[in-house]
Amino acid sequence: MLEIRPIPAFADNYLWLLVDGGRAAVVDPGDAAPVLDHLARHKLQLSAILLTHHHADHIGGVGALLDECGPLPVYGPKTPRMPLVNQPVHEGSAIEVLGQSFTVLEVPGHTLEHLAYFSAGARALFCGDTLFGAGCGRMFEGTPPMMQASLQKLAALPPDTLIYCAHEYTLSNLRFATAVMPDNAQLHERQRQDAAKRAVNEPTLPSALALELATNPFLRCAAPEVVTMAASVEDLPEHNPASVFGVLRRWKDRF
Ligand SMILES: [Zn+2]
Repeated sequence: MLEIRPIPAFADNYLWLLVDGGRAAVVDPGDAAPVLDHLARHKLQLSAILLTHHHADHIGGVGALLDECGPLPVYGPKTPRMPLVNQPVHEGSAIEVLGQSFTVLEVPGHTLEHLAYFSAGARALFCGDTLFGAGCGRMFEGTPPMMQASLQKLAALPPDTLIYCAHEYTLSNLRFATAVMPDNAQLHERQRQDAAKRAVNEPTLPSALALELATNPFLRCAAPEVVTMAASVEDLPEHNPASVFGVLRRWKDRF
């Protein structure tokens, strides 16, 4: 039975550790030290590394983990920006990690080669900096239509999928979500629950996709109240979800 644990790192990253018996795999190890520490304390052997994109806070620890834990499969996109990837994967690739099947999804927008890993068996999605609790990643390299399509790809997964994002940004995202959807009762309830978790230093993650579909404005770009709000913030010549997404992302960048 797969267990998934957050290893906090830097100011607000989670390095997700998958554990099955004495074996482990890690997603986006930006720092090796807290991972090695956890492996040693719990007598776990690292057997795979999964990478979503090239940013340093996601891959910075890969070299040291390979030095310490021996040759391992390192899954990730094929790009010169990630030379330590030795098992390049792409849209539709099926991989097995700790006996669990994962499907690879290409979700460009935050970066152009960004990947996500979905396991139907584990009900788990590792989505790096694409989807966050009540928000989404900054659009460093993509366009609004590209990133909105990536988010819609994630939105189409089974609603009971648990979302393991790479940062604890939920409370700040919820403040923005409330500005976009002031009348969303489920959003206010989520804000109460997640604020209570953070008050005792518990992660707000993983969240369920069903909750994101109801409370994350970036997944609700076709909802009438979101379209109306977006049109009040910026001139919105086209009322398609990608234009609405663009307005929300620009608004959030200066929020
Ligand atoms: Zn990033």
